[in-house]
Amino acid sequence: MVYDDRRRAELAANLQQVRERIARACEAAGRPPGSVILTAVTKTYPASDVLLLAGLGITDVAENRDQEASAKAAEVRAAGAGLRWHFVGQLQRNKARSVVTYADVVESVDSERLVTALARATADRAVPLDVLIQVSIDGDPERGGVIENDLWRVSDSVASSDGLRLAGVMAVAPLGWDPDRAFAQLAVLAGRLAERHPGATTLSAGMSGDLEAAIRHGATHVRIGTSLLGMRNSLR
Ligand SMILES: *Cc1c(COP(=O)(O)O)cnc(C)c1O
Repeated sequence: MVYDDRRRAELAANLQQVRERIARACEAAGRPPGSVILTAVTKTYPASDVLLLAGLGITDVAENRDQEASAKAAEVRAAGAGLRWHFVGQLQRNKARSVVTYADVVESVDSERLVTALARATADRAVPLDVLIQVSIDGDPERGGVIENDLWRVSDSVASSDGLRLAGVMAVAPLGWDPDRAFAQLAVLAGRLAERHPGATTLSAGMSGDLEAAIRHGATHVRIGTSLLGMRNSLR
């Protein structure tokens, strides 16, 4: 277990740095230190890393591919760790049935057809599935996300689906944008959504490179991969 000890020490050091960044950003924004939940994005990393992170106090993990996530979640569950699993990748409707078996939250909902598929798939779940609407800040649908005009229709559809709970919004700052500009725009939409649907208060924004800007603009959840686990080999 030499490797495990070394990896644990590495993850612990990274985690401490990320927690310090979050605490400093909260302080600078005049927000309580516990007001931001750290979601560890564990895509491409093994279940053993997820278990180490759980041992270090991580409660929320995120994945972006169903096949990888489903196997990892099963392995982690078998090892006895109870975590909240977030799905953050583009989701095909035919994967809805699989995703709802392990996910607690789907953050990347961006069409009514996907809402319908998830609602069907959750028909016999004991607990409703939390749903975030992914917003496309620059209006480019290529990387997923609804444009502002569609946000209301898709969110109303989630809110009226029995097995789903509308929890809020998620976004990724567009490449090349000043993250403050991106997250300021997102915060306006999140505020309007929460007025229309009072339970929809989650704002999932901020990654390794821009978590401070996201916290300045009210993020309740930051999704951190690289700064916690290291550089990924692929671009995802
Ligand atoms: C990979 C990923 C992250 C984490 O990004 P890092 O820059 O590695 O922190 C966050 N959100 C989504 C949707 C992702 O796909």
